[in-house]
Amino acid sequence: MPHVVVVGGGIAGLAAAWFLGQRAAGAVRVTVLEAGPVVGGKLRVSEVAGLPVDEGAEALLVRRSEAVALTRAVGLGDDVVHPAVQGATLWTRDRLRPMPAGQLMGIPGDLRALAASGTITLPGLARIPLDHVLPRTPVSGDVSVGRFVSARLGREVLDRLVEPVLGGVYAGHADELSLDATIPQLSGAIRVERSLLKGVQQVLGAGARGNAERAPVFASLRGGLGRLPAAVAAASRAEVRTGATVRELRRSPGGWRVVIGPTRSPEVLFADAVVLAVPAPPASRLLRDVAPSAATDLAAIEYASVALVTLAFPRDAVTRPLAGTGFLVPPVEERFVKAATYSSRKWAWLEAADPGVVVVRLSVGRHGEEQDLQHTDEDLAWWAQADLETATDIVDAPLDWRVTRWGGGLPQYAVGHLDRVTRIRRAVAELTGLAVCGAAYDGVGVPACVASADAAVARVLRDLAERRQWGNGSDSRQAEGP
Ligand SMILES: Cc1cc2nc3c(=O)[nH]c(=O)nc-3n(C[C@H](O)[C@H](O)[C@H](O)COP(=O)(O)OP(=O)(O)OC[C@H]3O[C@@H](n4cnc5c(N)ncnc54)[C@H](O)[C@@H]3O)c2cc1C
Repeated sequence: MPHVVVVGGGIAGLAAAWFLGQRAAGAVRVTVLEAGPVVGGKLRVSEVAGLPVDEGAEALLVRRSEAVALTRAVGLGDDVVHPAVQGATLWTRDRLRPMPAGQLMGIPGDLRALAASGTITLPGLARIPLDHVLPRTPVSGDVSVGRFVSARLGREVLDRLVEPVLGGVYAGHADELSLDATIPQLSGAIRVERSLLKGVQQVLGAGARGNAERAPVFASLRGGLGRLPAAVAAASRAEVRTGATVRELRRSPGGWRVVIGPTRSPEVLFADAVVLAVPAPPASRLLRDVAPSAATDLAAIEYASVALVTLAFPRDAVTRPLAGTGFLVPPVEERFVKAATYSSRKWAWLEAADPGVVVVRLSVGRHGEEQDLQHTDEDLAWWAQADLETATDIVDAPLDWRVTRWGGGLPQYAVGHLDRVTRIRRAVAELTGLAVCGAAYDGVGVPACVASADAAVARVLRDLAERRQWGNGSDSRQAEGP
């Protein structure tokens, strides 16, 4: 029976193991090798004030169905939940203001809603309609979100609306992030329409038509999204090994040689195919000898480090009603936190689990600003709480708190990212029985990671099937391997 090794037990690797189990229906043996003590990667849940609260990802975008479908397929369908409240606020111009309706990644499409929200100044508002008369902004190849949006709609739209949204998803900076990779819905429209406003309106209009009954935008799991990895691992029926850091990947006649364990007593596994589901830095190291050009491209993908401060307050500490699911903070405001989620308000199951406790998650850290995280947990919690107090008037000391650090947590899709990914995939495709997946490639969200796992599995199974056809496992393309 062919043996497929999945390197990395984050959601992408576990989803790959699950797809392998489904597609190959017991005809392949699957081993997942995870460096950490538990599987899940950025999906993890632990207790704060006796309540389960996610330490990493907490919500799935429903519009992309892959992750919710996986959740149901592994038996957690009855625990799928949606936010009890909708809409975030922006902490901008000295107070919390509603995020304007009709926007795409913060780019406005509805000027009336924008004006009513008070999120930008009158001069900032007045600048926007120039978009209709300005000559076309040329886009040859990729362009940064910052350059394009500020050229069309003015710097204030970028600083106060787009930066906080991009900061929330990528912990990155609009001037560096690729428009094609981070807002792919717009990449067609900006090459056809002269006006960005019109382009956004078209995309939003198409979305509204496809979403007539106002379906929920996000989903999660009762008890935390961090429950998903263990369920996927169990349903995959793969052998899952934790504490198994893969140090080396080499070709061997007929397949792959995967080296784990300490240098002094290495353990070597032989695999017919390998799915590499690790972040770009370890993927680059593992591919250095077998696919040097892919390794170079992977090494160029930068990551942002972030931290999440989770605070649990007694309910009567909240003296002013909290609005929406939380707030985003434009970097121009120069606050310490970049976003907050009112977890107990957002997730009814959490509120019901202990109505006397209010949980708030605050995030800190952007790409290139790692110095913000070089402080003790106590300091991070203290400064985050100070910002929360200013924004919401919650002044009491928390009942409990937790700081979770995600060093190198979020890949930065810089200008040219899509071309880089194409080059990586092309180089990897030269090697039979190897595929890559995960957040470094086609989207950082969990649904995109699941989709990339699906595609990686399709590729390695195709390779295995072709090899079988060519003659009982003797693949001429592998024969030249060391
Ligand atoms: C704070 C935070 C909040 C987020 N919130 C959301 C959200 O609400 N919704 C959403 O959709 N997305 C969210 N994301 C993004 C999303 O969680 C991640 O992009 C996604 O989980 C990444 O999955 P992955 O499997 O590609 O990588 P990872 O989760 O990084 O998993 C990779 C695994 O590979 C292992 N590994 C690394 N090197 C080796 C090696 N040499 N050998 C063996 N194993 C190795 C690692 O230990 C890790 O477990 C968030 C991310 C962060 C950091």
